[in-house]
Formats: sequence, C-alpha cells, structure tokens
Amino acid sequence: MKKFVPAAICIAAVSLTVHARAATPIRVMLLDGQSGGPYHAWQQTTPVLKKELEETGLFQVTVVTAPQSGGDFSAFHPDFAAYRAIVMNYDAPDWPAPLKTQFEQYIKNGGGLVIVHAADNSFGTWPAYNRMIGIGGWRGRNESSGPLWYYKDNKLVSDPTAGSAGAHGARLPFAVTTRAAAHPIMKGLPPIWMHAGDELYATLRGPGENMTVLATAHSELSNKGTDHDEPMLMVLKYGSGRVFHTTMGHDVAALSCVGFMTTFQRGTEWAATGKVTQKIPAIFPNFNTITFRADLAPSK
Ligand code: ZN
Repeated sequence: MKKFVPAAICIAAVSLTVHARAATPIRVMLLDGQSGGPYHAWQQTTPVLKKELEETGLFQVTVVTAPQSGGDFSAFHPDFAAYRAIVMNYDAPDWPAPLKTQFEQYIKNGGGLVIVHAADNSFGTWPAYNRMIGIGGWRGRNESSGPLWYYKDNKLVSDPTAGSAGAHGARLPFAVTTRAAAHPIMKGLPPIWMHAGDELYATLRGPGENMTVLATAHSELSNKGTDHDEPMLMVLKYGSGRVFHTTMGHDVAALSCVGFMTTFQRGTEWAATGKVTQKIPAIFPNFNTITFRADLAPSK
C-alpha cells in the first residue's frame, strides 16, 4: 500500500454539542482496576473514556474497579446483566473460574463488549475471552493462541508463522484505512484518516472467528513494524453478543484524538444495541489532518 506522508496539521478543537440526554440511557459498565504495567494508567484514561461516552447523551456509565491480581475477589460480583455493554479498560492475567463463567454467559446471551487497547492483552490463556476479542497480544500468547491476522493485497489473511504475539513501535501519528465502509460504525467516515500519536499494535494473534476487520493501519518497518496492514478496529460475534475491539488508545493523548473518540462512541453504541444513531462530528480528522479534543488532551 502507498506510503503515507503525514502532513499532520493538528487542529485542537473544543467541539461540543452536548446532546440532550436520551430518555432511556444505555447502561454501560466501564471496567478497570489493573494493567500490565505503569504505562497503562487506567486511573487517568478511565475518566476520559467515561466523559466521551456520557457526552453523547446516550449512555449512563458506571465505573467498576476490580481488585488487583492476587487480591481478594470473594466480594467482587459485578452485575453484568444490569448493563447493555461492558467496556474493558482492563488488563489482568486471570480471573476466578466462577467469574469467568458469569462473564461468558453474559456475552453469549447477548451482552455487548468493548475492548480498548491493552484490554486485548488481558487473559492470555482464557480461550473464551480470546474468541470474544478475536486477536490479542502479550501475556503468554504465541502460535498456540492462533495465527497472526493482517491485511495483505486488500484481503484479510491469517498467517500461521510461529512466534510471540504483540508488538509496537514509538507513538507516532498514523493513517487509519477503512475496510468495511458499509458497517454502521464506519458509515460516513472518511476512507483514510490520521490518528494522533499512538502505539500501532502489530503481530496480534488469536482464533479470529466471526471477526470483521473495520479498519487497518500500515505498520512501518522504519518504526519497528511488520510492513503489514494491521487490524485497528474490529467487530465480532460471540453467541448472541456483539464485540467492538479497538487496538488504539494507549494514553490520554491518544484518547483525545477525535478519530479515536468517534469510533469508540459509535462502537460502544453498536455493541450495546446493534445500531449507531450518532452523527460524525464536523471536526473528524481526514487523510492529512489530525484533530484532537484540547479539553481532553493532557496539559503539556
Ligand atoms: Zn499501550
């Protein structure tokens, strides 16, 4: 695919039409509480994700913070069924078996699931979780977790080459290319848009069942990349449940990108309801312009 030269004009935009609150808000659980390291500061990113959802006027977001790994889970009984979707800003190695079963049942029975960035690192050895998210990285994943998935010659391919899973280069801006323009989440988005500086996840592996890749980005060799077009946005079916998976969103700077924000808001609505009723903001980025929400971005 053609090399992209990001002219990267940044537009700081404080948009905001705050919409009237829907009569019946969509209840969403935003799950956090652990990450694989200090580099995923859920204490900082959760309030931004919550604000982005709530300002649409569609969602009522409850933050649920899980105990630390190895901590006491005996009193941790989140009421998944009370929510239309669970947004995972959460990366943990494992859960007690009854909690896993409860979560699997919830999604199988039609619950929505939204995977943000390092949530696809979570639960490397939980087979059902890996089927829900399609592909993931780190936490022990390798060829036994499934093949690599990427776009080649404009087609999704699975590659059984052995090796580890999960890689990224420096946090640079990159172009995101739409691969499923007719999907409700993508309808009306430009075919290519620039994402603010973020980790571009590559070499993700998994079963990739019932998975539709909505958008990809080219992983540049010059930035420790694969030279493949890597999946950035995906949707999956798991039983009757809908899953929206974005590999973007490393930190608050990445979350403040209007492209991240819009696809996250639309993806969450789709996971919860199967529909998208939101308009594309006028300040959505295009092929050579990055736009970000100055009011959400970290102060420099
Ligand atoms: Zn990250």
